[in-house]
Amino acid sequence: MAEINDPIKCAYCGKEKQPGEMMEATIFTRERKWNKRKRKNESYVTKQKKWYCKGTNCHINDQMAHDG
Ligand SMILES: [Zn+2]
Repeated sequence: MAEINDPIKCAYCGKEKQPGEMMEATIFTRERKWNKRKRKNESYVTKQKKWYCKGTNCHINDQMAHDG
């Protein structure tokens, strides 16, 4: 039997914890891309699913770090 309790690393603080202490959450990342036709940078939003510590502000903090 394979071990399925490998620790998961938090995308924000980098701590490794058991899957039961982690939660999967979506963050919205703003990125810029050069639009050749309009000849200017355009910002667009991408969704990413990441793992964070459960019961902490890691998810919120990471979202705020990517916002704006
Ligand atoms: Zn964390």
